[in-house]
This record gives sequence, C-alpha cells and structure tokens, in this order.
Amino acid sequence: MTGGSLDQPVQYIKGVGPERAQLLEKLGIMTVKDLLYYLPRDWVDRSNLTPIIKLNPGTLETVQGVVIAAETRQVRPRLKITKVTIKDATGFISGVWYNQPYIEKIFKRGYEVIFHGKVDTYRNYLQIGSPEYEIMDDEPGENTSVNVNRIVPIYPLTDRLYQKQIRRIIKFALDNYLPELKDDMPEEVIKQYSLAGLKASISSLHFPEDFDSLEKSKRRLIFDEFFYLQLAFLLQRYGIKKEKGIIFSASGAAYGSFMKNLPFSLTNAQKKVLNEISSDLTSGTPMNRLIQGDVGSGKTIVALAACVMAKDSGCQAAIMAPTEILAQQHFKNIQNLLKGMDISCALLSGTMARAKKAKALEGIKDGSTDIAIGTHALIQDDVEFSDLGLCVIDEQHRFGVLQRLALVKKGKRPAHSLIMTATPIPRTISMTVYGDTDVSTIDELPPGRKPIKTHVFESGDTNRIYSFLEERLRQGEQVYAVYPLVAESEKLDLKSAIEMEKHLAARFKEFRTSIIHGRMKKDERDAAMESFRKKETDILVATTVIEVGIDVPDASVIMIEHADRFGLSQLHQLRGRVGRGEKQSYCILVGDPHTEDSIKRLEIMEQTQDGFKISEADLEIRGPGEFLGTRQHGLSEFKIANIFRDRAELSAARKAAENIVSGICDADHIEKERLVRIIKQRYGANFDLINIG
Ligand code: ADP
Ligand code: MG
Repeated sequence: MTGGSLDQPVQYIKGVGPERAQLLEKLGIMTVKDLLYYLPRDWVDRSNLTPIIKLNPGTLETVQGVVIAAETRQVRPRLKITKVTIKDATGFISGVWYNQPYIEKIFKRGYEVIFHGKVDTYRNYLQIGSPEYEIMDDEPGENTSVNVNRIVPIYPLTDRLYQKQIRRIIKFALDNYLPELKDDMPEEVIKQYSLAGLKASISSLHFPEDFDSLEKSKRRLIFDEFFYLQLAFLLQRYGIKKEKGIIFSASGAAYGSFMKNLPFSLTNAQKKVLNEISSDLTSGTPMNRLIQGDVGSGKTIVALAACVMAKDSGCQAAIMAPTEILAQQHFKNIQNLLKGMDISCALLSGTMARAKKAKALEGIKDGSTDIAIGTHALIQDDVEFSDLGLCVIDEQHRFGVLQRLALVKKGKRPAHSLIMTATPIPRTISMTVYGDTDVSTIDELPPGRKPIKTHVFESGDTNRIYSFLEERLRQGEQVYAVYPLVAESEKLDLKSAIEMEKHLAARFKEFRTSIIHGRMKKDERDAAMESFRKKETDILVATTVIEVGIDVPDASVIMIEHADRFGLSQLHQLRGRVGRGEKQSYCILVGDPHTEDSIKRLEIMEQTQDGFKISEADLEIRGPGEFLGTRQHGLSEFKIANIFRDRAELSAARKAAENIVSGICDADHIEKERLVRIIKQRYGANFDLINIG
C-alpha cells in the first residue's frame, strides 16, 4: 500500500504546526504526499555564486554576502532611500529601495543574504535597485544546504510562507517519507519507455543535481500525468463497451414531426453528422462523440435532433452550456423549435430563484422534464435525473474532462454523450481533453450566408466608423459594439463599456442603445438580450459575454474595440455573432496594434473566415500554451504536463496505456484490479469503473 504515513496530515511534519498547516492547505497541500508532489514553479542556479568583484554592471546577477549596514535616509521631502550593504570576501554591493523604509528592519547586521537583480554602478559603488532578496539565516536551525550552493527551487507561495520554510519542510519530507512512495507504473512500461525512477524524479524535481536530470525528472512526471488519465479513459471505455448502451429509436413519432417542422432544411454536412450520431445511438454501445463545426455551422439543431430521439426512446436529455446567457438562449431557441410538440424543457442555472429552481429540479427528478438545459448547475449534487440517456455539452473547452464525466454520471444507465466545439484541435489533443471520442465535423455553413466583410480601422478613425454605422442603422440593421474584457482589470473594462454606451447613445440619438455585461442582474441581462432580439434596440453594447454562441440572426454589424488585445480565436468567435442571416454582414475591428503579432492577427482576420485556418494561425502565433485560453479548465487536471508542448509524451503515454489495457483486460485480473484502484485514488469518483472487474 502507498503507506499510511504518506497520507497523514502535513501537520505532523517537523516544522509544520497547526498555523503553517493552514497556510499549506491554501496551496492545496493536505498530506505528506501532497507535499512531495508540490512542484516548484522555477529553479535558480546558485551553485556558482559570482564573487562581488566579478559582477558585471548591466547584467542580471545573483550574489551572496553578509549584511554590514542597513539605513534609510530622507533625501528629499517625498523620497526616502533605504540602502542595505553586504560584503563577501571580494567586495561590497548595496541593495537600494525607494520609499520602502520597512525594508531596513528586515536586514539585521550579520545576516547572510542573497540579492538578485540588475547590477548598476552609482558613483563607483555597485548596487542593485530593488533586488529580489532572500535571507539565509534569520531563523535558528535553518538548513542552508537547501538554499545555496546548488540549484534552488522556487515554489508558488502564499502570504506569510517563505521559500526557505517550504524548502526546509519539503526537504524534511523527502528525507523521511520519500522511501515510502510506491511507483504504481507497470514494470513493462517503465522498461519500454526507459522512464526515470519515480523517487529519484520527485527528489530531483525539488533539488536537482543539474539541469539535465531536472529535465529527465520532469519528463517522468509528465508521462505519469498523461498515462494515468489515458488509462482511466481506456478502462472506462472498456467497461462501457462491455455494457449495453441504451438503444435509441431513430424513427419515433417525435423525431418524425420534429424533422418535418424544421424551419429550414439541413445542410449536407448536418445530415451526414446526424447520420453518424443516430447510428451511434442505435448501436447498443454508448456514444462518445465530438462535433466540430465552425461558428454558425448549426451544431445546436443537430444536437437537438439527438435529444428528440432520447424522448422517443423514453429517456431524458441534458444540454450543458458554459455560460448562463448561452444556456438561456439555448432554452429559448429550443422551446421555439419544439413548439407544438409534446416535449418539455426546463432551464436550470445557478442564479435562479429558489422556488423556480426547486420546481425545475422536481421535474428533472420525476421525469416530467424531457430536456434539461443549464449551466454547470446541472452537475451539482442536488440534481437527480429520472433516467438520463443523453448528455450534450456545448463549447466543451470551457469545461474540464471531469465536469463532463460528472454529467454523464448522472445517468442511471450508461448515458450517451455528445460534445460540441467550435475550436478545432488536433486529434491527439482532443483525445486527452475530451477522452476517447469519435469525431464528426460539420464542414459547411448553411446556405445563403454571405462572407462577412471585415475591415480594420485605427482608433482615430471614429468619424469614418461612425458614419458607416449610421448608414447601416438607417437601413434598419442592428449593431453589436464590443468592448474587451482584459482579464486583469474587469472593473476598468466594465467602466469603458458603460461609458461607451453613454457615448454611443449621445452620438446616435435617433437609435436605441442598450448594454449587456456579466455584472448585470440576470433579469436585466435577459431584458437587454430579449429587446435586442426583438429589434426593440438597435445597438447592443457588450463586454465579451457575447463571445460564446449568442445568436441574433438579424444583427449584421459587429464593431470590436481594442481588437488588437484579443486572441485570434476569440476575435473569430466574436465575429461569428454576425453573418447568421442572409444579409451582408460587417465586422469592424478597431485597434492600434503595436506588436508584430497583433498586426498579424488583424491581417489574418481581414483575409480569412475559415475557422480551421484561424485556429492554426492562432496556435502558431500564440504558442501552444495559451491556445485554449486561461479558462481551459480541462488542462488544470495536469500539474506539470502541457498537452501542446508535450505532445510526444502524450502519444507515448497513450500508446503505453492502450497496450496495458489490451493486455490485461481479459487476462490479468490482479493487475487490472490494481490499476482500477489506482485510478480511483487519483480521480476519485469521477470515473465509473464498476464494470471493469
Ligand atoms: P453554432 O454551430 O455556432 O452553434 P448554431 O447552432 O447557433 O451555430 O446555428 C447558427 C444559426 O444558423 C442559427 O440561427 C440556426 O437556427 C441557423 N441554422 C442552423 N442550421 C441551419 C440550416 N441548415 N439552414 C439555415 N439556418 C440554419
Ligand atoms: Mg453554438
């Protein structure tokens, strides 16, 4: 067993009392094992500290010495300078801080300290302005061997916890508990892929001998992260394959009348994908399929058709959307499309009034609701389905793998699942993010769509932009005006959107303006959206809440301010809000790009409207790490692996997991049970592996 002592609370580690245990808990460190797996965010090489005499002015240096003086002087009425001078055997250097007199108190004479920063000279004295610093020995019993003369780990930390402390705590854990860590990786995989030992890797990740062995250790942990998740998917799939999927009817009464009453005929691409789906649903094996299709390609209607089949087959369907606005919109559209049919829908969201929510929950539970539409509220504990047979997940890349599984698990029988995404990603990666899925692509837009005309303007061009908008508005067309939401200053953006609405309302007096943003109350947002949809307003000012999936076919102009700040995929999503009807649509990108990348992004937007091309370019420009955006929760299941950067490890781990599963599932029960136990330990209840054994 991975011993009891690795699972014991971190509080029992030497140097960790109740108080520090609380700080560690903030970092997600509860047990000794968590501590061993708490990985540095960076490493700095302190093995060869430069003697002061050899420091090069103008370069970044790390230097160590003893404090010989610390003083603060008031040099001008509003300027206090604190200067801390240290010396080593070869000379002196000072750290200098402006208006931070408290710094002086940190540095007691005689302390051994480290400064890191850009070296300068001032009147022939060496100094570093506001250096990063570390005090080596202000605590009795400090184990300096983990802090200097080696490659030193830098951990992500919280307030009141210091690098030296956590280094010491982790060092203690390594020395005393690492021997108990058991490597769960099957022997044959370790051999075949020449994996570094687990214990050695963990140890080296914290305190590497050199950067080569650090790199090897990282590889080992990256491999592990991929391997176990792939193993979980494959074991689950194996178990599910043995189980009968619910067999849907593809020729029921509801389906027949739904198809007959469609307000348009399906595109060939939609028909093709719908065929693929219905053959999954009638096959007797649970469906696990991903629909890729560019914005506006009409994924929703295809998914809805599958939901109608669920109804014909006597079970329920659920549609989970990433935002409340999107869930509401799906709810309204779907109610429209199902008008006159005996299919009941319910909306479930986190912000609903309690009574309303209770009613929705009741309908879902007693089975009177056929299609439940909602946000992640659908996967909360209080939701119980009477008999969930189909899960539809919209814009999956906003959800994590485990959230998707949580919805599927609401079914009492193995439910079918269907994922929709507008962000096409490479196959190896989709396997990791979505699990072991089949992929369908809607590679055609509904007929009559005219390409959107896209133009880039500088922010100084307001006159031209506004007269263009005026012209379109006079033709009776509707306009989105989007103001960006830059992550670090949501408040500022909000302000700029609110100000812009006033500004536009004043500029376009004869037209009606409204605003929508994430901080508005739900009914206000509803009202704004609804009146825009009904053409009671002409200009809708929005933050990026409209980015995902909002659908108002009559809106034909979108103006995006500060377009240079957005990523390509996001711009493409935003632009996809127009060009949905038969009218000529326009996208006006306003921005003053300052970097090569932002210039290139805007050029690409002008040149193409092909989502696949845009994704590729985005991947190229932004680099893999950020491609899916910071909201890529699915990736947070990995601590160290990165699905783009580490593609080689990903395919190796995938192959290894496939081999293991095909080798053991019918033969080696003991090994199979062992692996199932490991998966359950790692991922808790999210993987349903009951049918494996
Ligand atoms: P997305 O794939 O981006 O989710 P939607 O499902 O929201 O796209 O569909 C975009 C718009 O196109 C909707 O207004 C929808 O009613 C419409 N639409 C879908 N399929 C067709 C079709 N075959 N013919 C005409 N309009 C369609
Ligand atoms: Mg959509």
